[in-house]
Amino acid sequence: MSEIVKTEAVVLSKMNYGDTSYIISLYTKEFGKISAIVKGARSPKSKIGLMTDPLNYIQIVLYKKDSRELQIISSVDLVEGYISIKEDLDKLKYSQAILELVKKLTVENEVNHRLFSGIIRIFELLNSSDESPIILFGRFLFFFIGELGYEILLDKCSVCGKSIPGENELSYNFGNGILCHVCRKEKAESYLFNLELFNYLVCLKGRKKIKATDQLAEKANTFMENYLKYHIPDFNGIQSLQIFK
Ligand SMILES: [Zn+2]
Repeated sequence: MSEIVKTEAVVLSKMNYGDTSYIISLYTKEFGKISAIVKGARSPKSKIGLMTDPLNYIQIVLYKKDSRELQIISSVDLVEGYISIKEDLDKLKYSQAILELVKKLTVENEVNHRLFSGIIRIFELLNSSDESPIILFGRFLFFFIGELGYEILLDKCSVCGKSIPGENELSYNFGNGILCHVCRKEKAESYLFNLELFNYLVCLKGRKKIKATDQLAEKANTFMENYLKYHIPDFNGIQSLQIFK
């Protein structure tokens, strides 16, 4: 039996299906990640066709059947189209990377309201805040890693428990976590951390506006991408950022 349900959603990806339809991947507020078919939407007259473009924040009505892999969309309303993201290549690049991460690394039908809100919030910021897109992407990445269950812990040495702030030479071992200058001598390090990178990662958690060079932000993003690769062996890195390079 299928039921008629309503939910908010972000469109993660879209592809043609048959001659007239689309299949879209969605991250929804009420049902987590799902795939759905939008029938007859490829006619030039179809408004639903445009509203289901990737990145759009929409409200949908679905005929939902739990046993079915592909749900059927019955109606769509556009909540937000993020126009200024779509007009800026840099913002678009990082937004696509966010969509890619959510599509690749979340589990179908697993509900996470906080993640949903986090996705909407980051797109709002990319759309309207003047903080640099590379830093905003880092904020999302840090948050997202935590939501996946691999939170990056930064408050103390993962081996001896000594409080970290104030140390100048730190390193990071993906298996253990952050290491103080004493413990790093005994463990193989995956990453050499300087205080600048450490402080920057701590700032990504906060809401205060960050001033950092693109170089530092890039270094932190690469660290987090590698951290994800270490914890999720199937994850082959963020392709969207490669395409735009
Ligand atoms: Zn230590």
